[in-house]
Amino acid sequence: MIINAMNTHPDKKEMQKLAFAALRALAINRENQEEISKSGGVEAILQTMKKYNTCVDVQEEACASLVNLSVDNDANKLIIENSGGINLILSALRNYSKMERVQEEGCRALWTLSYKNNASKSAVAKAGGIEVFENAISNHPHNEQIQKYARYAKKGIKKKNSISQKNDSARFSLTKEVEAYFELEATLFCVVCRENKKDSLLLPCRHLCLCSNCVKSYSFPDCPVCRQKVQKIIEVYL
Ligand SMILES: [Zn+2]
Ligand SMILES: [Zn+2]
Repeated sequence: MIINAMNTHPDKKEMQKLAFAALRALAINRENQEEISKSGGVEAILQTMKKYNTCVDVQEEACASLVNLSVDNDANKLIIENSGGINLILSALRNYSKMERVQEEGCRALWTLSYKNNASKSAVAKAGGIEVFENAISNHPHNEQIQKYARYAKKGIKKKNSISQKNDSARFSLTKEVEAYFELEATLFCVVCRENKKDSLLLPCRHLCLCSNCVKSYSFPDCPVCRQKVQKIIEVYL
């Protein structure tokens, strides 16, 4: 339904942005990730990125949605790669080199895409990813998020070569670090914006998955994790 709306109203930018947020919330579980890609959701996001390549907010929202769609999902990574997604993300990063959120979400998206996926790693490297990550690192020395994602992404791509040289100790520590971070992020942060800590408990299913900001900005009739109808939301403190 969301993807239908995206395809029927390509000219409504605000609607496209809302659709991104909805897809992002849904894409946190495997079943939904598959459903979204089966219905052409990945292509719809990439189309919108292409159409609104002069809108910085669309670029950042799109990158953020691609992160959730590709976490731990090789099939979706392949669709993104084959539909030109890597080049679209890199263009966004090149066009908006000064914009912090684009840099953050774009580097995060490319890191997620290439994480444990050699095909995507090669594609990102071939399309000039390393230079883009180096620019992000030098343009935003004080932004911790950008530093982290751009460095992980760059290291991840370089790691591919070191794997063939059997540089196992370096590889091991990076993988551990990255995995620990993924785990922490999945536990602590809101599944929609991934910026604020989770603080809104949904009832009756009792999933703690959203922040109060996102609850206020978007309405969630169903829990994004289990799809049960939401009857009540309680703000909690971690
Ligand atoms: Zn949030
Ligand atoms: Zn739930």
